[in-house]
Amino acid sequence: MREIFARPKVVFSACLNFEPVRYNGQMVKDEFCEKLSKCVEVVKVCPEVGAGLGVPRPAIKIFFQNSEKRVIQVNTGQDVTDSIKKFSESFLDRIEGIDGFVLKKKSPSCAISDAVAYKTSRGEKTVLKTIGIFTELATEKFPNSAFTDEGRLKNYWIREHFLTRIFSSADLKSRSFNKPELVQFHESYKYLLMAHSPSLLRQLGKLVSNLKVAPMKEIVSLYSELFNKAFSVKPTLGKHYNVLQHLYSHLKEKLGEKERENMSRLLEEFSRGKISLKTIREIFRVYALNFEDNYLLNQKYLNPYPRELESEK
Ligand code: SF4
Repeated sequence: MREIFARPKVVFSACLNFEPVRYNGQMVKDEFCEKLSKCVEVVKVCPEVGAGLGVPRPAIKIFFQNSEKRVIQVNTGQDVTDSIKKFSESFLDRIEGIDGFVLKKKSPSCAISDAVAYKTSRGEKTVLKTIGIFTELATEKFPNSAFTDEGRLKNYWIREHFLTRIFSSADLKSRSFNKPELVQFHESYKYLLMAHSPSLLRQLGKLVSNLKVAPMKEIVSLYSELFNKAFSVKPTLGKHYNVLQHLYSHLKEKLGEKERENMSRLLEEFSRGKISLKTIREIFRVYALNFEDNYLLNQKYLNPYPRELESEK
């Protein structure tokens, strides 16, 4: 049941495991980013080096001046906003088909929300958190891509969502559908979509159940838009529990009484967070294999991304 996955295209902050480009000439070691980089197409970027600031370099900070965000080198007082923006815009114009971004937390250039910024108003200095100057431009250019940082990826549910999103997006992009292929693709994503957005799953279902209403190109374009929108919605434990109940209903009549009791107990433990999604998926995969149940074996819900990226918590 080992699957071959389309490789998502992911932009990484270059200082995450790749190059010693931080202001102090170092890089950040991150075990998960290293693992992830082996399963995706990596696009590295260091907006500050790209802007010609060199390594090592004076640290920079964000200041709000008349509500405009400016990036200043603290030691020298030099305003480097325009050079970072210029490089970022030209870099972002050169890349395409990006499924996700893994950026360095807290960086004035790369942070997705937690760069420290200073604001002075009526003589009072306030400290606040904001998006990095590169990331702000990247979210404008790629509004449908998934953005995260190495800190957030340590959270199981954020990681699960990010991985599902980038691998689903890459899978969708790798296809050139005819009608039966789109129906089959949708069928295989039914439960994974349900874990994210039951309402968008319904809309997508309606779309594929009536493929005569518009030319295939238009349908695929609308399907892709709704599909990516569905995966941008966070899954919850409750939605996963609901999906697992559906999978259990599908299996139920093939199970003996003891197995049913055991399965009900496991699902209940999952709903209380006592056992992991990885474990419960593995149990369903084993049943699907034992019963040679192709309907379940084809469900992306049981295999949303490469197994080597799965973890217990
Ligand atoms: S956080 Fe961004 S700008 Fe800073 S060193 Fe890393 S890649 Fe370069």
